Amino acid sequence: MKVGFIGLGIMGKPMSKNLLKAGHEVVCFDLNKPNVDEVAAAGAKGAASIADVAAACSFIITMLPNSPQVRQVALDAGGIADNAEPGTLLVDMSSIAPLAAREIHDALKAKNIRMLDAPVSGGEPKAIDGTLSVMVGGAQKDFDEAKLVLDAMAASVVRVGEIGAGNIAKLANQIVVAINIAALAEAMTLSAKAGVDPELVFQAIRGGLAGSTVMEAKGPMMLDRNIKPGFKIDLHIKDMGNILETGHGVNVPLPLSAAVMEMMQALKVEDLGGADHSALVRYYEKMAKVEVKRG
Ligand code: NAD
Repeated sequence: MKVGFIGLGIMGKPMSKNLLKAGHEVVCFDLNKPNVDEVAAAGAKGAASIADVAAACSFIITMLPNSPQVRQVALDAGGIADNAEPGTLLVDMSSIAPLAAREIHDALKAKNIRMLDAPVSGGEPKAIDGTLSVMVGGAQKDFDEAKLVLDAMAASVVRVGEIGAGNIAKLANQIVVAINIAALAEAMTLSAKAGVDPELVFQAIRGGLAGSTVMEAKGPMMLDRNIKPGFKIDLHIKDMGNILETGHGVNVPLPLSAAVMEMMQALKVEDLGGADHSALVRYYEKMAKVEVKRG
């Protein structure tokens, strides 16, 4: 299939390359030209604008930072709504506010453009392997049409409901990930300050009930003092904001999410907004006056 791909950052680059590997034709665009050049070098056609992608493709994926960028690319002058053929299917794989997904969907519907919200989990390593988990909201027939393309980037593609439901599932995912990383950081900091090698603690507990995908991905990063993103704290703050707003909107108190949000805000003040979210361990280290490291 011919697929338009807009947003070629940490996630969009490997995802679009996996579409190429699966034999799809890709027409790509990003504001950052070197990103377009990189995906074009892997076999895609680089486009000069969103309008060019929309004019060339009736199946378009977006992988952008947040709601305002998706709104802009979809609805602003020169965007998808202005340039795509009626009947086009937009699959937004960014993590955005569920309400924004519904609003963008409704505005596009007026132009006879269809939309699914299909955020992902798994981070850069699974984007590279093509083993992401995709949670999809939207009409069943649009999901059925998109499934083959999504399968080229994912190990699991599940429709969870109507438009916006994909991003509700993603918020649930981000609650579990954020609190898990904070718990791991708390445990590693306790081990280090109590004089027990955190690497040995990690080895001792990873196979038990505490073990998790988060522990496997983020434990070694904490021990190596590696904060290269991965998933940036700034993006997780965006997700935590959407979590708290959505939760409060439906009358669900979220005490643990609120606590981790404030830890992330404190790290942002320390200029760590661009660091991987596993840098939550730096928050604990500062409070406990200890460093988590190997040996
Ligand atoms: P990123 O910041 O690395 O990439 C975003 C890309 O979008 C950049 O290349 C930027 O130039 C481009 N962009 C921004 N505005 C644009 C516009 N108006 N037109 C065209 N291009 C534009 O972010 P990322 O880590 O790839 O994340 C993308 C989305 O996926 C976010 O919603 C994030 O929350 C979500 N996500 C990220 C991860 C992860 O581990 N990085 C995991 C799951 C989900």
